[in-house]
Amino acid sequence: MWETIGNEEAVKHLSQSLRDGRVSHAYLITGPDQIGKGTLALDFAKALNCTGVGSPCGSCDQCSRVGKSLHPDVRIIGLSSSEGRDRSLISIEQVREVQHEAYLKPYEGVWRVFIFDGVGRLSEEAANSLLKLLEEPPDQVVIFLLAEDYLSLLPTIVSRCQLIKLRPVLSSVISKVLQDVYGASFELARTLSGLSNGRPGWAISAFADQEILDETTKALHSMETLLDLSIEERLKYASEITSRMSTEKKIARRNLMLWTTWWRAVLFDKQDVLGTEKSGLTFESSHSAASTLSVLQICNAIKSIQKASCYLERNVNPRLIFEQLMLELPNRR
Ligand SMILES: [Zn+2]
Repeated sequence: MWETIGNEEAVKHLSQSLRDGRVSHAYLITGPDQIGKGTLALDFAKALNCTGVGSPCGSCDQCSRVGKSLHPDVRIIGLSSSEGRDRSLISIEQVREVQHEAYLKPYEGVWRVFIFDGVGRLSEEAANSLLKLLEEPPDQVVIFLLAEDYLSLLPTIVSRCQLIKLRPVLSSVISKVLQDVYGASFELARTLSGLSNGRPGWAISAFADQEILDETTKALHSMETLLDLSIEERLKYASEITSRMSTEKKIARRNLMLWTTWWRAVLFDKQDVLGTEKSGLTFESSHSAASTLSVLQICNAIKSIQKASCYLERNVNPRLIFEQLMLELPNRR
């Protein structure tokens, strides 16, 4: 059984290529963070080596070892390291290791699978080395490159891969999985799937991890509070959040993502207020913002947050980004 949630076309395409014996040497899977790129690559790694019925069966020895990251022929190469210190780029050493291993026969499976996670962040040397590997692909090896989009990659790398674009999954689909598979209540499943922006991985991790759930509640509450704060108080908030970022950079990214979702809910609410559209996702706090702000103010807030996200990705000083954002957000005072 494929564990990928939604994106049926991508699943269909891969299972068809396996049935027809047309497995590519390299696939580039693109899509936002936690949309299911890794899950799809692992599903295919299971399917390639599965010994059960209806591959990937999910229960044979091969499938279950891939699922537990215990299969010697399936490796994930990424930015997080076992020493707990995350890298900012995939290094040349990591690619060289793969180059070496790729030419060895599979230990116990039929196929070797290498999954490069976060391939948008390759060092230049690593990218060239990876290109060589893609130019002369060994037999019985499948390489997956996972990236948010292909624009940050060398065109020569992209052209050697089969491109699979993953799209946001319907929140009703995510909600159903949260209830049926993970036992979430209807209310919580609806809220988390709405907040996930179509990313099942985020919804599942938020359900499983109380810390993420608390952080989410806090982020949404802080945006609502910010609307009523003075400029001085907002700048103090910017300073606090950016000092927390020095220990955990993902906090800022997640906050911006959640704030975008909150503002979208405000916009939908506003349209409801104006009687133009009925929406699914609403928060108590978004109703009150919708009734006090204009459509233009709401749209500008969304634009400002998106601009901040872009700058954060380009490594602009986070303190400057957040200070600017604090100045741009509408004030209800
Ligand atoms: Zn199996």
